[in-house]
Amino acid sequence: MRAKLVVGNWKMNLTRPEAASCVEALVKQIDSYEDVEVGLCPSYLSIPVVGNLLQGKSILLGAQDVFWAGSGAFTGQVSPSMLKEVGVQICIVGHSEPRGRFGKLEIPESTISYFGETDQTVNLKLKALLYHGIVPILCVGETLAEREAGKTDSVIQDQLAGALDGIDAAEFIAGVVAYEPVWAIGTGKTCDTEEASRVCGMIRTHLAKLLDQDAADSIRVLYGGSVKAANAKELFRAPDIDGGLVGGASLNPEEFVQVIRAAH
Ligand code: PEP
Repeated sequence: MRAKLVVGNWKMNLTRPEAASCVEALVKQIDSYEDVEVGLCPSYLSIPVVGNLLQGKSILLGAQDVFWAGSGAFTGQVSPSMLKEVGVQICIVGHSEPRGRFGKLEIPESTISYFGETDQTVNLKLKALLYHGIVPILCVGETLAEREAGKTDSVIQDQLAGALDGIDAAEFIAGVVAYEPVWAIGTGKTCDTEEASRVCGMIRTHLAKLLDQDAADSIRVLYGGSVKAANAKELFRAPDIDGGLVGGASLNPEEFVQVIRAAH
């Protein structure tokens, strides 16, 4: 039986004092459930302060990204050992935003190529995280144009194959995959539960082909895209959805606590 997992992705939000207040409010209200794991992915700068506040708590400390090399001339990047040193246990990889695929475009279109993540860089990052014992949360998902062209499953299968190239079942068995339809991220549009569950099930079937059945049965497949207190219960009830990757709603401790409760 897979425990549910609910991870907050704070993206580029919250200064360090704001992050500290958010964690303090969260730990006051959160119940600890045996069947639900919780993680938080603050900005790089807030990881140490959040990590200190989570000492002795069962909430996992996460990062939103990583670079694959150990060290070197990679200005602006952060290595897996740097994350490990500050206590990071989980890390998001291949989120649609660094891939340059936005549900709601808030930057000029001409700057999109700045966000240049590819399946190959995702693969390098996954390997680096696994080598350092950090649990990756691999994000996959289709844009609205891909969905309308009937390409949802093939896009996701290609993303999985590219990301997991050269990685075997034993290495990824503790990993996590998040199905995040790009058109539902930060837009307020949620994928309906039946379709989200179908895609999460398709991901598990494909993981069995790429890895093996044992790994596919163990890997948590989360749904992400405008998850909030109002829709979490229905989404998390679906047998193929093992929890959520939560953006906006994780910035509000009261709302996030309700999302966590919904997973119980
Ligand atoms: C995300 O970016 O991972 C996400 C799911 O965001 P939101 O919940 O705000 O749609």
